[in-house]
Amino acid sequence: MSLTLDYATIDEIAAEIDDELIGVRRDIHRHPELAGDERCTSALVAERLHAAGLAVATGVGGHGVVAVLDGAGDGPTVAYRADMDAVDDDELYDCAFTSQVPGAAHLCGHDLHTAIGVGIALVLARLRKRLNGRVVFVFQPAEETCEGARSMIEDGILERTAPREIYALHCGPLPVGMLAVGPGQPGQDRLRIDLAGPDAADDAKRLVAMIDGLSTVGRPQTPGQLQQLMDDMQTPDGPLARFVFALSHVSPGDDGARVYAGCGPGPRAGMPRSVTRCGAGWVSSPVPG
Ligand SMILES: [Zn+2]
Repeated sequence: MSLTLDYATIDEIAAEIDDELIGVRRDIHRHPELAGDERCTSALVAERLHAAGLAVATGVGGHGVVAVLDGAGDGPTVAYRADMDAVDDDELYDCAFTSQVPGAAHLCGHDLHTAIGVGIALVLARLRKRLNGRVVFVFQPAEETCEGARSMIEDGILERTAPREIYALHCGPLPVGMLAVGPGQPGQDRLRIDLAGPDAADDAKRLVAMIDGLSTVGRPQTPGQLQQLMDDMQTPDGPLARFVFALSHVSPGDDGARVYAGCGPGPRAGMPRSVTRCGAGWVSSPVPG
């Protein structure tokens, strides 16, 4: 069987459950739970996913939740992972769904990550008949203390579910329509953007120029410049103690154009990072609308 999930259908279902997901996110934001104490958050997640027909396991590596969605057709197993814990700090913003718990707040966006994970599960559950393979949803506790992932792995989650790929995201405080590169999260240094519509090719070219324009360091053109670059990168507090490098290219997409970009220094650039411990600044550029 070979069925595909089209974006239009996914968008349609996502729009239908939009209010529900906003409610989930605000509920979690209102009731933040610190690392290792995600009782209510994990119960909420488990309840929603169970109601959507997923096979749900709770108490995995602490308050971790693992939910399995089997598609109608054969295919690989992929996983989506979200973290659930809050930060031990006071709420920064006064809003309708502000934290009700002194000293705990979702300042790192894990309320969003959890709601997004629930949303993906609900959308795909409705499209189960068109889904090939298995999707495993992993809701991880204790991300802030770096303990939750290990405890879930030690609980055997990877052996039990054996995903071929695992996806995750970490949100950032940027306006919609803004593209930025910066330091920090693993896997943040590569990205792909699909552009559709009659102007896709031209938009892609503009986007490539914008992304490449984010670089604060030029590409070396001569052996001397390359040597200088290496020297600068390895000089503590030197000219390249802080830098961003971005490089992108266009290729034809399914329905328009596709832009691939790489940004550095990313976690994959282990050698120069470990030598210089260099940081990168945030730079950003608007995405063509
Ligand atoms: Zn976080």
